[in-house]
Parts: sequence; structure tokens; C-alpha cells
Amino acid sequence: MLATVLHAPGDVRYEDVPEPVIQKPTDAIIKLSASCICGSDLWPYRGLNAVSQPLQMGHEYCGVVVAVGEAVKTVKPGQFVVGSFCLSDNTCPHCRHGFQSSCEQVEFMTGAQAPYARVPLADGTLVATDGMPDDDLIPSLLAVSDVLGTGWYAADAARVRPGSSVVVVGDGAVGLMGVLAAKQMGAERIIAMSRHKPRQALALEYGATHIVSERGAEGARVIKDLTGGVGADSVLECVGTQESMSQALESTRPGGSIGYVGVPHGVTFDGQQLFFAQRNMLGGPAPVRRFLPHLMDLVLRREIDPGKVFDLQIPIADVSEGYKAMDERRAIKTLLRV
Ligand SMILES: [Zn+2]
Repeated sequence: MLATVLHAPGDVRYEDVPEPVIQKPTDAIIKLSASCICGSDLWPYRGLNAVSQPLQMGHEYCGVVVAVGEAVKTVKPGQFVVGSFCLSDNTCPHCRHGFQSSCEQVEFMTGAQAPYARVPLADGTLVATDGMPDDDLIPSLLAVSDVLGTGWYAADAARVRPGSSVVVVGDGAVGLMGVLAAKQMGAERIIAMSRHKPRQALALEYGATHIVSERGAEGARVIKDLTGGVGADSVLECVGTQESMSQALESTRPGGSIGYVGVPHGVTFDGQQLFFAQRNMLGGPAPVRRFLPHLMDLVLRREIDPGKVFDLQIPIADVSEGYKAMDERRAIKTLLRV
């Protein structure tokens, strides 16, 4: 079959690869209903993560099960499923604490920018729907797999509560999903930091009450003004740079919480500063499996529409154009039709 392979920075090809097969009794093979490109795919695409060998790309997925290994019990061929980008057994102590992304058997999904994909640890990773979802819900169900699950985790880790004041640092797809999550969790004031008109518009649609385009010290000052002079209760850091992490720390009130889900690149902390700052911090790869049933339910009941974050939809054969569009920030997030 044809699938997406990254050969070197900037060099993405849709080319022939072996079809996925059951390798372990705990595997499933799914036929994807749609696939997409993640902001984190841009790190190796931009050469910021080393590419030492050709990589089969793609870790966000939903689709129909076509085969399962003999040990798989919770899903069967013909069922529509959504899975997390983190593969987990969902039975070990970390999984039982709701941190499936730290599962004792954790693996990370690959090879999902393709018509078919192998999902290891199928029982602990996949959640099936009752029937076949309507076609128009596919983008939103696909979003649950990573980008919504990650934005949701950022809000959960930042302890967003009814009435909270929230700042979202980063106007990429995950930041926009963080806005959606904060709104669903009952935040009263949701401040989205963004300088881009189309992203500001989507943030407002998802529930942002304020847009702040200033950054750095000026951005922190504007946020203090909007939060009674103290900073926000909850801050979602959805970028992963030193600048965005500093922005998050400066935008949180003492005793407030930061949920950080941007994969850090070059971020360092000063121990003394952190000590006197008195912020709660929780981050990491999102344990999407914890949130999957609830988020799938919200989508299926049409209470949320995270699929709107895909502002570019192209055939998967044009995947290299999709990477280019996201790299040049012409697209927030690209959906690949398979
Ligand atoms: Zn586990």
C-alpha cells in the first residue's frame, strides 16, 4: 500500500510500504476513516528532531477494525474505533491512576498517515462506538485521538474548574482545543494569546472571552490587568518553547496551575525562580485514553465540534503539500482523506 514516509527534513513522500499485519496477539489492524498531520510531526519535518532513518508518519487515527490478534477481547472486526496516540495496556498501576501515557508497556503510535495501520495493545488503547458514526462526525472523532485529548489534558492538568480564569498560551490546534476544553469545564474567563486573525476567530468560537496579542512582559501585564492584578488560576502551555513556558509562568497567579503539553524543545527552569513562584505544574504526553469515552460521547451527541480545527482537507496522496501548508502556517491543521 501507499503511505506517508519522512526521509529527511522537508522530504515527505507518499510511497509504497508493506501492508501492516498482526505481529503480536494484542494487535489490531484498522482501516482508517481519515488521518491528519500533527504539529509535533513538524519537529522532524523541520529538522529539529533528528531523522536517522525513513519514518512512517502519523499517530492520530480512527477507523474500522479489519483484523485482531487472538488475545484481543474488547474490539472486533467491523467496529468503528478511536484510539489514543499513546498505546497502553490500561491495566498497569499507572494506567489505573489515569496516566496511560506512562503505561509500563507504553508505545507511541506510528504509521497512521496511511489507509491501514497496526494498533498494538488494542484492548487497552481502542474504544469502539455503538454503531457506525455519521460521516460528518469523522473529523471530530479523529481530533479526539490526539489534538482534543491533548488540549483537554492541558486544561485538566491546569485544574480548570467552574468559574476559573484561564490563559491559553499557543494558538495552534492544541491551544484551540484547550480553549474548547476550558469552556466545557466551566471556566468563566478564557484568555487566548494569539496574533493571527483566523486563529483568534476560531478561539472566540470555541469559547475564548478575551484575545491578547501582546507577548512577553507586555503580554503578562495585560493578563494581570484581566485577572484582578494577580494572574490566572489556570494556564495551558501549548507550544513547548522557552518563550512560551516563561509566558505561562508569568501569567499564572501564585497557587495557580500550569498544564504544559507542548513538547519542550530547549526549555530550562531556574530552581530558585520556580521555588518562589509557587505554581503547580503538570505536563507530559496526554493520557488521552482516560478521556476517550467522555470526549467521544460529547462528539457523538454533537455537543462539541473539535473537527473545525481542520482548516485544510486534502487527499492523502497530497500529504507533502499538507506538511508544507502547516509548516508555513497557512493551515492550522490538515486532514488527510484516505
Ligand atoms: Zn498500563
